[in-house]
Amino acid sequence: MANSIWTIEEFTCPGCSMSYTATREEHAEAHSGSFKCSICSSVVHSWSGKHHFFGWEAVKTKPPVFGRRWAGVGW
Ligand SMILES: [Zn+2]
Repeated sequence: MANSIWTIEEFTCPGCSMSYTATREEHAEAHSGSFKCSICSSVVHSWSGKHHFFGWEAVKTKPPVFGRRWAGVGW
């Protein structure tokens, strides 16, 4: 456990553009799986290989309007 490598990755649902984050964990053995959107049931991400994703969470902090950034630009 001491040398587990965890990274947070972000994914966007292809169906409804909902953003999710998941924790990627490196493994010595291959894993496979997929995660479906809880809103529209599209497959947000599927994986197979020596890593696994867990801890899927919807990102609720983004503003609903995309393409308009107003975070800390200072104008
Ligand atoms: Zn969706």
